[in-house]
Amino acid sequence: MRTADGDARTAPADLILRGGVVHTLEPDSRRATAVALRDGTVARVGDDPEVLALAGPATEVVDLAGRAVLPGINDAHLHATWLGAMWPDTLFGDHAVPGAPRERPLLDDAQRRRAILRAGELAASLGITSYTEPGLGPGEDHGPTGAFGTSVAEQYRALAAEGKLRARVTVLWLYGELDGPSDLEHFLTGLAATDGATSDPRWLRFAGVKIFADGIPPMRSAYTHHCYADGVRPSLLVAGADDAEREANLTRMIVAAHRAGRQVGVHATGDRSIDVALDAVERARAEHDADLGHYIIHGDLVTGPQLRRMAALGVGLDTQPEIAVRTRSLVDDALGPGSAAAAWPLQAAFDAGVSMCLTSDAPVLSPDWRRQIAAADEWMGAAADPRARMERLLRCYTVEPARQDAAASWKGTLAPGMAADLCVLAADPLSLSPAELPDVEVELTVVDGEVVHEHGVRVPQAESV
Ligand SMILES: [Zn+2]
Repeated sequence: MRTADGDARTAPADLILRGGVVHTLEPDSRRATAVALRDGTVARVGDDPEVLALAGPATEVVDLAGRAVLPGINDAHLHATWLGAMWPDTLFGDHAVPGAPRERPLLDDAQRRRAILRAGELAASLGITSYTEPGLGPGEDHGPTGAFGTSVAEQYRALAAEGKLRARVTVLWLYGELDGPSDLEHFLTGLAATDGATSDPRWLRFAGVKIFADGIPPMRSAYTHHCYADGVRPSLLVAGADDAEREANLTRMIVAAHRAGRQVGVHATGDRSIDVALDAVERARAEHDADLGHYIIHGDLVTGPQLRRMAALGVGLDTQPEIAVRTRSLVDDALGPGSAAAAWPLQAAFDAGVSMCLTSDAPVLSPDWRRQIAAADEWMGAAADPRARMERLLRCYTVEPARQDAAASWKGTLAPGMAADLCVLAADPLSLSPAELPDVEVELTVVDGEVVHEHGVRVPQAESV
């Protein structure tokens, strides 16, 4: 019963989803068919009778008719503003309109704002309720796309203050150029000058910094311990007179950011750049032992020993399996036959206990997370049973990115008190193989208790007759 001052546990829900399969992704979750949401959080998860006990006169009750509920999808690496400008084009081009220009630069703040809003609608349609915008800042204030400068961060701040974001956003600052050079001086100046304040950190949070350590294997710009097949010797993107100085400067950047309490996401694809980044994190943690959720972005050529070190240091991995699938032959061309088969060792990352996020890197790839899960499964091969594989891969889009966001205490799973961020799929993913997932519709998306996307699931009841 509701007490005089309103008992938080028994007050009526705003929205109840019942008659479905609810995957809470909690560690020891029991079978649930219903979930109740109230005031932007999950009020109860359980079977239909216990959840329907929270139905009041103003509660909307939706019959899921067997559909599946998942925690909201969190894409840990998604260039949303750029995506909003490009969509439906992507860099891998499978939606490309023939003859359409690839780049559509954002010329002013109104266009940047529209691009963010457009990406928000797209995210909502895919069940994405959180994402990380990996790299906005002064290094790109005069960049060719207009999608990565400081003014984009300001648009995010304005939209958050107006309550217009459709997904929760984490931002990493960028003090160099996107996919380009950076130098220690500008990095340290930027780090000192950056203002991280936002109207509500649960909607918009400036978590830390993005550093481009190197490039990518197909371009022969991944910083590796050995030369490429054609003799190219790669170097770091961080400025310095020689390898030793560039490595020292990258180390200084990471240590300085850690000292300032900032999370660091390092774009590192080569084994040598990953070594430098891990050495730096080890040094930073020896000086001040805090787990700030640092992570390696891409990690194409990460090795088994490096993965074990990452697990020990609390360094996560953000990776894009569809890039592995699509660039396999390019990687073999660059690094020699068999190189791709040893790259992106997703199974080894799981075995080592690395906190791994699968991400789209959209608009490099489509932001459709279902395709990344299918690609990850294809890349790893079918060792475990499909249900276990699917559950593990779903965690890479929910639980693990919540950890990366330092938000595991309030989002990423469905349990009382957690954020009311969820999506509803037309079929239960755990009854399917990952290869079948891309064909399963996202039918409802809820962020902070608000329905931001629906497609067929919420049949109007009283009004329709
Ligand atoms: Zn990226």
